[in-house]
Amino acid sequence: MGKYDRIDAFGIETMNKEEYGKRQEYVLKKCKCATCPTYVKGDAPTGYCYPLIGTSKTIQWEKDCVCATCPVYKEYDLSHTHYCTRCSQVCQAMKQEGGLGQGGAG
Ligand code: SF4
Ligand code: SF4
Repeated sequence: MGKYDRIDAFGIETMNKEEYGKRQEYVLKKCKCATCPTYVKGDAPTGYCYPLIGTSKTIQWEKDCVCATCPVYKEYDLSHTHYCTRCSQVCQAMKQEGGLGQGGAG
């Protein structure tokens, strides 16, 4: 697996708008954030791991993160945590790889 695949865990580069929307709906349906101690009730949309949803405007304090127990996390082989405060999987992966500025897909 190349570097690109590790960064674009959800494969959004190959999706059209409709597919992107459908996958976002799927992620939101499975998302466990509402059960997480870090989550602030009412904040939406969740699914913060997904590209372009963005970090929360409300959540300020990181407590535990239950992402590792989420089916989306396992299905897409995600590797980071606290997406609500730290930014999406793509965004954190790019920061880790030192690749910021190579596309900015979320
Ligand atoms: S991995 Fe985390 S942010 Fe992503 S859908 Fe699951 S609980 Fe929500
Ligand atoms: S991204 Fe992680 S820390 Fe943030 S609310 Fe979701 S499960 Fe909790």
